[in-house]
Amino acid sequence: MTTDYRIEQEPYYQPQSNEVALYEAAYAARLPVMLKGPTGCGKSRFVEYMAWKLQRPLITVACNEDMTASDLVGRYLLEAGGTRWLDGPLTMAARMGAICYLDEIVEARQDTTVVIHPLTDHRRTLPLDKKGEQVRAHPDFQLVISYNPGYQNLMKDLKPSTKQRFAAFDFDYPPPEQEARIVASETGIDEALAARLVKIAITARNLKGHGLVEGISTRLMVYAATLMKGGVAPRDACRMALVRPITDDADIRETLDHAIDAVF
Ligand code: ADP
Repeated sequence: MTTDYRIEQEPYYQPQSNEVALYEAAYAARLPVMLKGPTGCGKSRFVEYMAWKLQRPLITVACNEDMTASDLVGRYLLEAGGTRWLDGPLTMAARMGAICYLDEIVEARQDTTVVIHPLTDHRRTLPLDKKGEQVRAHPDFQLVISYNPGYQNLMKDLKPSTKQRFAAFDFDYPPPEQEARIVASETGIDEALAARLVKIAITARNLKGHGLVEGISTRLMVYAATLMKGGVAPRDACRMALVRPITDDADIRETLDHAIDAVF
């Protein structure tokens, strides 16, 4: 498989504020960056857009709790003729000068997360202990992590010593008109229709903390709009894409279903 991880086409990204300029400044200083915010609000899309704009390859890793340091750094593979070292995605990114995006970093265990430390300070190196090699990061390498503060708890959080290595950006769902524009641009439905989806999402977001862990994301609205574009009746599309995925609570489902019926 050969790929240079470059993003050929400009990803559609609707800026919320001055985050593009601020990110460019962080990249110019090669500061590690943390993107904070709820799921499905545009963090990954932003990184894709920035990688395209800065013309850097992008290597994305979806973190999970079974992930080990070797999954990031690399390992020896057993082969017929002996063993062969295979770089992990972090090592690959450090060598080639890519932007390495560790998505949902808190999902990884803390003993995995610490491998990024020497890459995030003046050392900019990655020790491959098993191989006995110190990889010096390419001058263009940058580390980006995403972090959902909503899921934070005592068992799952970043260590302060990890947090304090990053410049951070706060993300949230865009203001209503902007979110409607995003949903319309992503799916081709008209903006007035998208605005009605946003209305339903806002109802759900107001229930956050009152039985809902997290509200309806921009991503789910894109799903609902895509279904509608494909001919699914709005009420069905909304129940299926906006409500059923996020809650099993009968009362909350009923409240949201009413909100849908009031809008469509
Ligand atoms: P996450 O915050 O979980 O990384 P994503 O970046 O994957 O979320 O966003 C989910 C979807 O929402 C995207 O695929 C895109 O369709 C849409 N989206 C959200 N925010 C924006 C934005 N500012 N510009 C363009 N698309 C967006």
